[in-house]
Amino acid sequence: MPLRLYNTLTNKKEEIRPVIPGLFRMYNCGPTVYSRPHIGNYSSYVFADTIRRYLEYKGYEVKQVMNITDVGHLTVSDDTAYDLTRGEDKMEKQAKKEKKDPSEISKFYTKQFIEDEKALNIKLPHFLPKATKHIRQMQEIIQVLLDRGFAYEVSGNIYYDVTKFADYGKLSGNTLDKLKEGAGGRISDKIQREKRNHHDFSLWISDESHIMKWPSPWSDKKGYPGWHIECTAMSLKYLTDAFKGGKFNPKNFETIDIHTGGEDNIFPHHEDEIAQTEGATGKKFVNFWVHRKHLLVDGKKMSKSKGNFYTVPDLSKKGYEPLVFRLSVISNHYRENANLSFKALDQAKRNLEKTREFIYKLDNLPKNDIINIGFDFLEHKTWDFEDCMDDDLNTPGAVKVVYKFIKEVNKVIDKGGKIKGGVKIKVSEIKDLFKKFLEVLGLEVLFKEKKKKLEGVSEVEIEKLIKERDEARKNKDFEKADEIRKELLKKNIKLRDTRKETEWKIVDSSF
Ligand SMILES: [Zn+2]
Repeated sequence: MPLRLYNTLTNKKEEIRPVIPGLFRMYNCGPTVYSRPHIGNYSSYVFADTIRRYLEYKGYEVKQVMNITDVGHLTVSDDTAYDLTRGEDKMEKQAKKEKKDPSEISKFYTKQFIEDEKALNIKLPHFLPKATKHIRQMQEIIQVLLDRGFAYEVSGNIYYDVTKFADYGKLSGNTLDKLKEGAGGRISDKIQREKRNHHDFSLWISDESHIMKWPSPWSDKKGYPGWHIECTAMSLKYLTDAFKGGKFNPKNFETIDIHTGGEDNIFPHHEDEIAQTEGATGKKFVNFWVHRKHLLVDGKKMSKSKGNFYTVPDLSKKGYEPLVFRLSVISNHYRENANLSFKALDQAKRNLEKTREFIYKLDNLPKNDIINIGFDFLEHKTWDFEDCMDDDLNTPGAVKVVYKFIKEVNKVIDKGGKIKGGVKIKVSEIKDLFKKFLEVLGLEVLFKEKKKKLEGVSEVEIEKLIKERDEARKNKDFEKADEIRKELLKKNIKLRDTRKETEWKIVDSSF
């Protein structure tokens, strides 16, 4: 079955097919590197990574680009969200605060970003281009927009005239008619007066007082680009032929397959990206727009003032390794708010531990071992898993399939690999399929980790020592029993005595 995704552009689930057969070209809006990205940002990046992983599982090649916003853009309050020329520039603010050059700030936080991505086992995009390295490309697109009448210049500033783009609002539903109702007031500063229409947005701002500034063809004063234009420039450069030969040629542009972001990117950012790109090329920008809903913490939007603001290292300090966060995020559908709570994280932690123990168990069965399991077990599990993923990337469903898989195989192994009426299959086949599922979910690293962690100890040895300990306890030789417990703990094996038997589990002191 083909993958169906919910397309924000059409407001429905649609079969996703690439423009170029066999290859998906995907762009993800990336971080602004003036501070360490928070876990809300990473819920979006995990989502994009899951799309890539599943398309790769289905045999497609994926070319993925994520931008690094390292030029300050102005953040704005909600009521002026369409206007990037108000508010504060967080990049510049941070640079001043740390008494550093903005490029040092962005280098530092880009490094942290990549550290977090790796810790979350997010595959690094094929290209991670920086906005500051693409000023020329942005200017070339802006010039085409001026030439084609979509943009205008007022005292060195360039604005996009939203009334010239008939499709404005097609992504977010914020058409100009609707926007007009909400307009009014607040046209106080110079820039608002300069604009022809209230909702026109900046493509280039000439401002010598800005720390990061570049010469432009439109003013003697240096300036800097608006935020939206960087994503147009970098997606076109790395995913299409529009800059082939070094110069922008709109004729060489071909529609991009997928563009992702958080739901807060829909308006104005993505709406404006569409206006710019389609204005400049005359062609459809992107076929599939997919957005991840906000991550909530304890049911609330994350904010520093509410005290529910976390980064990946913050969670690690609280005892939740990065993969626990990843599992917790994908245990929610991307079109619902992932509600993170310590209860949810604890659940994900238990599930991750269960996965580790299962892999350990599989690893310790003889390679060519054969067990008796339900009829068509592998086929059924593959269908169940793919049914979930194909249906709008239903990761919570796929996670459930994985835990049912563990439960069923565990049951058979615990019975010595024999059940009535089943069929014989090799343990290695079970292991291969399980690994494939974990690869889609981004948890396949657990396979590598296990081997490292349990060097020099086998299940048979553990069971033997547990039996010896049971014997010692029966004979009231508690000293010997305790010695064995400690010996196992040194090998990362923790024991738990239940009424029926002694259970053991692998612990990792590094978490
Ligand atoms: Zn973007």
